[in-house]
Amino acid sequence: MTKSKAAEPTIFGASIFHPDEWQARLELAACYRIFAMLGWTEMIFNHISLRLPDSVSDGTLQFLINPFGLHYSEVCASNLLRIDASGKVIDASRYKPNPAGMVLHQAIHQGIQQAHCVMHTHTTAGVAVASVAQGIEQHNFYGAQLFERIAYHDFEGITLHPEEGERLLKNIGDRQAVVLRNHGLLSWGVSIPQAFAILWTMQRACEIQYATASLGQPIPVSDEVARQCAAEALQIDPSFGAGRDMFDALCRQVDRIDDSYKI
Ligand SMILES: [Zn+2]
Repeated sequence: MTKSKAAEPTIFGASIFHPDEWQARLELAACYRIFAMLGWTEMIFNHISLRLPDSVSDGTLQFLINPFGLHYSEVCASNLLRIDASGKVIDASRYKPNPAGMVLHQAIHQGIQQAHCVMHTHTTAGVAVASVAQGIEQHNFYGAQLFERIAYHDFEGITLHPEEGERLLKNIGDRQAVVLRNHGLLSWGVSIPQAFAILWTMQRACEIQYATASLGQPIPVSDEVARQCAAEALQIDPSFGAGRDMFDALCRQVDRIDDSYKI
């Protein structure tokens, strides 16, 4: 994404945020605006969270998340909340986090070292496919790329209870594409672009599966072909940027529409 410090908040000319934190805030706020642009929003609900680098957190777990009550189109770099390992807001803010969903994000950031970014959506296609027994099938271009890469977690109600975290982590294992049954989609990644690339692939798989189901039975894709597709899914592959180019293109698109997230 385009780096900009022009609108960074200052007190008497000094930056409020560590430079690495400000860059993390800019990228995460841009991601919220991308979700809004794509229609991956659920009123004021759902979350995208980002672990802060050790240079900011001194090696402790700290992550950024959206303030509860704002639409994704209202999230900006400075109003993101910084949360500690116990789930408390670190800096003074007029906003609070939404406890529902925080359980999911906190558990994954704590339990999976590589989970720097966690994303969760309730899109219609995502919830629909999460609500059928077969889950995401391999019988379309996008579903095939996720073959043997998807974890499933059974529905336990609204995710408010910390004890669900252990079961969630056990079900996720090391898989970065997660279907929360009867609930929605979730992805995690080493970076925002990687988590985004995975979630986008899941979203497209669900949309196509949902559309195909209205037409009839899909033409089956064999395990062999699906496995090859998954191995060659470049948008997820770290050696091909792990989604960085795609994410940066969307940041530029957001910037052309409304770059007010940079404050
Ligand atoms: Zn949810």
